[in-house]
Amino acid sequence: MDIHEYQAKEILARFGVPIPRGGLAYSPEQAAYRSHEIGGDKWVVKAQIHSGGRGEAGGVKVCGNDAEIRDYAATLFGKRMVTKQTDERGKLVGRVYVEEASSIAQELYLGFVLDRSSERIMVVASAEGGMEIEDLSENHPDAILRMLIDPATGFLDYQARELAFGLGFDAGQVAEATKIFRACYRAFRDYDATMVEINPLVVTNEGKLVALDAKMSFDDNAMFRRSEIAELRDMSQEDPVEAGAADRGLSYVSLDGNIGCMINGAGLAMATMDMIKLAGGMPANFLDIGGGASPERVLTAFRTVLADPKVEAILVNIFAGINRCDWVAEGVVQAFQKMQIDIPVIVRLSGTNVEEGRKIIDESGLSLITAETLAEAAEKSVAAIAGKKTA
Ligand code: GDP
Ligand code: MN
Repeated sequence: MDIHEYQAKEILARFGVPIPRGGLAYSPEQAAYRSHEIGGDKWVVKAQIHSGGRGEAGGVKVCGNDAEIRDYAATLFGKRMVTKQTDERGKLVGRVYVEEASSIAQELYLGFVLDRSSERIMVVASAEGGMEIEDLSENHPDAILRMLIDPATGFLDYQARELAFGLGFDAGQVAEATKIFRACYRAFRDYDATMVEINPLVVTNEGKLVALDAKMSFDDNAMFRRSEIAELRDMSQEDPVEAGAADRGLSYVSLDGNIGCMINGAGLAMATMDMIKLAGGMPANFLDIGGGASPERVLTAFRTVLADPKVEAILVNIFAGINRCDWVAEGVVQAFQKMQIDIPVIVRLSGTNVEEGRKIIDESGLSLITAETLAEAAEKSVAAIAGKKTA
């Protein structure tokens, strides 16, 4: 789960990370009002969306008076902002953050990520900040410092100091820098984060360190015990089909192709997507209906897949272990009874109760396309779409 910049800054500030004074606004008038509360004579107005790259996309602006803040904020509210990190539909701007502007002498990069291969939290840092980490690793790979944190010892003082010196901080700044590093690490650990990023962390003209941007992501599976974080969820920033599926307990990721997939098990789902590609097609989604799927659950999965207008055929691929092919078949039949389905549906069933399942499909009288193997199912799905187009 992602949260907004202003929310990440609030959390990090509680752990001791210095952030600029700022205030949130839900309207252009409120944005202008915030600048008076904050004081000073220069402000930064920032679109709050779950994406980086806002600067380049026109979502960050330094303003000098409240008319300018109001006018700029008015262009942001209600807009779908497309950045390098969003898809072409972009993300809706419903909140705007206003901050006192900081002077920038240097921009640095600081990130804490979960490194799955070493099963450790990894600190990634660079004295060349401001750009996204992907660009940084492409353009200045040797300017990136990496450090692994051992969970048994935690983030040690010497590691924090080594990092600070490695980034070129002078003796006077090291204490402040290590305080920031340790604060990020504690926030990461205390809230089950999967990522904490400050980009840029800046050195101001006065030599002070300030987090100008902040980003945090969290482990969805830990949200049951982090209600304080779960509360920060902003549904307007999520893909509605994905969010709806997650709420119904389905694991769903929407993709760019046109073959809707309904599969049990993440491994089989991956294999099926590979086979679709091998057959010359493109999956429209990844959907794992899970083990022990009832007919109702299969029906819900159909609703989810059909909510995507790109879907031109549906491939149901079940290798039943805990699942039962007859229940899945029952769900498929119910989907046809309860929904208007006028695209080809390809069904491949294997495993527990497969005979009963096939019997239900055969006796349903529905024009379903059946397949024996995964390869055949993938080929028939691609062919069904091609056939529809030439017909
Ligand atoms: P992002 O593009 O979504 O990552 O948004 P950021 O919050 O990182 O802002 C993008 C860029 O705007 C930063 O890299 C800075 O160069 C600039 N910026 C942000 N806040 C300030 C500020 O207070 N003063 C100045 N001068 N520039 C800022
Ligand atoms: Mn940034």
